[in-house]
Amino acid sequence: MTQMQKKYAIVIDPLNCIDCKACLIACKVENKVPDSFWRNWIKENNSGEELRTQYQPGQCMQCDDPSCVAACPVVATYKGENGLVEIDLDKCIGCGNCITACPYDARYRNSTTKKVDKCDFCNHRLKVGEIPACVETCPTKTRVFGDLNDPESDVSNLLQSGEYMRIVNARINTLPNIYYRKGTDLLHWPKEPTLPGGTHMSPQFWKTNT
Ligand code: SF4
Ligand code: SF4
Repeated sequence: MTQMQKKYAIVIDPLNCIDCKACLIACKVENKVPDSFWRNWIKENNSGEELRTQYQPGQCMQCDDPSCVAACPVVATYKGENGLVEIDLDKCIGCGNCITACPYDARYRNSTTKKVDKCDFCNHRLKVGEIPACVETCPTKTRVFGDLNDPESDVSNLLQSGEYMRIVNARINTLPNIYYRKGTDLLHWPKEPTLPGGTHMSPQFWKTNT
């Protein structure tokens, strides 16, 4: 019997994040991310109405329509199984097209291997039934991970509540699979991507959708 394809997603409530950075360290150790680089991040927002700083964790959004895949000239970046965007390091030539094409600035070029790297939801852990290291280590359960093709999963239930949204650049909506609590003060942190052919998008296209 063939197993049903999964659709992995992460749902984030920034109000839970205490900026302990355990998720950053867990990721760095788990994925051997070199010095000066990170696969995930915590964005700070001090502009909201709340009295405290809001922390917004993130990483590669495993987009349904990823601009990084379209930008890769050698098909080294591709949409793999279970919705994950993967990189074939044997094919990657380190040109960096995918880095500039990603609206979330989720990729970097590894200074040692000269190949591109990014979060893959710890795919090696998923294959043995574990969850991503950042999700597992978070003391406040800010990130919830799961399969959107399973209507009973925690992520499906959270999205069905109608309380979560995508953060997108409307000119290049890559259909990200990380969702944030509605009311999250919208930081303009999706970046202006450079698409193949050198097309620059102008800013001011930020919006949220479900
Ligand atoms: Fe590609 Fe960026 Fe989307 Fe990740 S967040 S799948 S690197 S476009
Ligand atoms: Fe925030 Fe959790 Fe990361 Fe700590 S581990 S910084 S609480 S998301």
